[in-house]
Amino acid sequence: MNTYDLLVVGSANADLVVGVDRRPAAGETVLGSDLTTHPGGKGANQAVAAAKLGARTALLARVGDDGHGRLLRDSMEAAGVDTSGVLVGGAPTGVALITVDPSGDNSIVVSPGANGRLMPEDVRAAGELFAGARVVSMMLEIPLETVAEVVRNLADGARLVLNPSPPAPLPDEVLSACDPLIVNEHEAKVIAGTDLGDDPEDWARQLLALGPRSVVVTLGSEGALVADAAGSQRVAAVKVKAVDTTGAGDAFTAALAWRLGTGESLAEAAAYAAKVGAAAVTKEGAQASYPTAEEVSAL
Ligand code: ATP
Repeated sequence: MNTYDLLVVGSANADLVVGVDRRPAAGETVLGSDLTTHPGGKGANQAVAAAKLGARTALLARVGDDGHGRLLRDSMEAAGVDTSGVLVGGAPTGVALITVDPSGDNSIVVSPGANGRLMPEDVRAAGELFAGARVVSMMLEIPLETVAEVVRNLADGARLVLNPSPPAPLPDEVLSACDPLIVNEHEAKVIAGTDLGDDPEDWARQLLALGPRSVVVTLGSEGALVADAAGSQRVAAVKVKAVDTTGAGDAFTAALAWRLGTGESLAEAAAYAAKVGAAAVTKEGAQASYPTAEEVSAL
């Protein structure tokens, strides 16, 4: 049996990006730049981020039997991800259709495609991957019933890390398995189902009351906050010149999940992940911006 530092269960998308002078209004057609196509999706991003850091990483995901699916597999394999759990077929590969105007504002349409066909039976059929995984990391770009099935298939002692993005109310069964639940401000509000006030420590306390064993709140250039039953602690951001924040949250989550599996405390793992997130914002793109362990040490 293969063993993995990290098993990511989640989404893989092709990001199709066109620059425009102005994003089109209803019924309007505008001309844009040449199309660029990038590998993305939160699951594939996390898997590539962890593998680039040196973690033995596998991904359970579904892509279509098409060129976008091949692009995604190629990028993951180039980063060293074990793609034996990347299933093929059932629908076209998920895509994000992105228009970006000169000010950097964008409009995005996501077609989940094959991500929406990653089903509970696919989780049950991936017993080998789960048996070999110390830490399992997830997001919500796959069906919620599949997320719940992952919780039921964790190996004894395996740790679950969940970034509930895009946010949706979570069943107790999933919430209580998270260690940690990783949220930004918007995700915290949706998961709690209420306005949480201005203080991230309060957000963490209110989220902990919903059942997760620990909570991490990401705060962009302000760093992060970690909290569990023993209390909370701020994690300082690393000061960098931000160029493009796309995918920083995915890099942070993957790095934190991997470091927890090496035995670090939540605060130690979050401090390392903050360096990885900071490195990721210093370059354009998502996967293309992810650092190696050497680049993180150099920060
Ligand atoms: P995403 O938009 O990718 O989903 P997110 O909102 O989940 O991201 P962020 O808080 O933006 O996550 O970023 C994750 C972590 O990366 C932060 O907690 C921080 O440690 C680091 N980070 C992000 N932006 C910056 C920045 N401008 N400078 C330094 N560190 C940053």
